[in-house]
Amino acid sequence: MKNKYQPIIGMEVHVELKTKSKMFCSCPNDPDLKEPNINICEICLGHPGTLPTPNVQAIEWTALIGSALGCQIRELSKFDRKHYFYPDLPKAYQISQYDEPIATHGQIELDLSLDDNNRDKVRINITRAHLEEDTAKLTHSPDGNTLVDFNRAGTPLVEIVTDPDFQTALEAKTYCQELRALMRYLNVSDADMEKGQMRCEANVSVQTTDSFEITAGVVKARPGHKLNNKVEVKNLNSFKAVAQAIDYEIKRQIELLEQGESWIQQTRGWDENKNQTVLQRSKENAEDYRYFPEPDIPPFHPQALAKDIYLPELPWAKRARFHTEHGFSYSDAKILSADIAWANFADAVMSELVEWLHSLPETKNETDTIKEEKINKLARLAGGWLTSRLAGAMAERAIDIKILKLSPENFAELIALVYSEKINANNAQKILSEMLDSGVDSDPTHIMEEKGYGQLQDEASLSKIVDEVIAAHPQQTAQFKAGKEAVLKFLIGMVMRATEGSADPKIAETLLKEKLR
Ligand SMILES: [Zn+2]
Repeated sequence: MKNKYQPIIGMEVHVELKTKSKMFCSCPNDPDLKEPNINICEICLGHPGTLPTPNVQAIEWTALIGSALGCQIRELSKFDRKHYFYPDLPKAYQISQYDEPIATHGQIELDLSLDDNNRDKVRINITRAHLEEDTAKLTHSPDGNTLVDFNRAGTPLVEIVTDPDFQTALEAKTYCQELRALMRYLNVSDADMEKGQMRCEANVSVQTTDSFEITAGVVKARPGHKLNNKVEVKNLNSFKAVAQAIDYEIKRQIELLEQGESWIQQTRGWDENKNQTVLQRSKENAEDYRYFPEPDIPPFHPQALAKDIYLPELPWAKRARFHTEHGFSYSDAKILSADIAWANFADAVMSELVEWLHSLPETKNETDTIKEEKINKLARLAGGWLTSRLAGAMAERAIDIKILKLSPENFAELIALVYSEKINANNAQKILSEMLDSGVDSDPTHIMEEKGYGQLQDEASLSKIVDEVIAAHPQQTAQFKAGKEAVLKFLIGMVMRATEGSADPKIAETLLKEKLR
């Protein structure tokens, strides 16, 4: 059955750029500085008579972001004054961009699974990306006073606006995650949502299916229908909040529609504690801001500034390459490509492993198909070890990938030991722990030999241990002989225990079966 209602969602994301200096003055750009009101001057305090000078790096980076999002970079662009009064903005206007933003008409493709979304390939059109200055930071103290910190005032801020192309909360959340990855890949922002370096807002309206159409990014009512007002949801400070707030808002609007009610255009905030959106104010329209061209800054040419832009491999391209070329599972590829430092580590591990595989004497005469199968098997193994065992062990020790002492070469060597069954997973995990705890980049083969972690594959010694296990467990042995196959697992376990996990379980199984036949 077709759904009666269709959510229409557009996203607005603000990203603080990590340029050395602020947007229009030479103050250091360090909005998270603990001590308030240190990085300030007459310009970012908005004193009358001061002249703003645009930060060229910020303009270039906005063009870079726009290019990565497939946007057209405008030949000529300008800044505008956006007027409103609030204590975080002493000039009573913000220098922003109105009708000639640096970048327009881009797109991004989201990859989702049909298991959890009703569309898998979702194309989102990017309306625009423009540059503006951040405002001061307000802290409301419990005594009713509000404190103003101007360290953040004048931080270069890029606003990226999409067309209303999202239909679910998951799509919106995935988009925000892609944007964060992009900012980190381009090295223009750390895009840490907790620190406010990336801030998301959602425009949500639920419409009756078939009552509207979207033309060139604009939602229009079909003849004989009326559109429901859109609701802007703010204060989305985490990916979880993005998803929860949108889901909540969709549900809230559907309930109103079911009761035959409507609502006015409004701004709502997400209350994390109550898990609900709360009304903040009815929405101003663009004309309320009385935009006009900033008279103190001449128009500029972003396209000319952007002509030498070098675009690195972008997160989505890397993810696809990790999956198709390296052979990582799709979910591992997704995890490993989300962070550039992890992606570089994974890339280096795989190139070591592929080189190692090709150097093996038995690989030399194999067909390409067999080689490819082997690389795939190796990639699945490496992917699992990277995303669960290494990431897990690092999380336990609070080690970030940026300060990881372990080199991709040595990690690849550990994977090669597991792959060639020179060591079992248990002991490999022990070696990994030792490698991380040693604080230096250590050689896994060396640790294996030193600690005797190598897989016990010597049949004569294993045979002796198997005999001992059989002798020590007459009851289980009898059960197995009587046809209770499941007992075999127990007996293998006993062999593993007797060898402190170093027995080759396959050989142990073969020997047990032989002896109990
Ligand atoms: Zn300043």
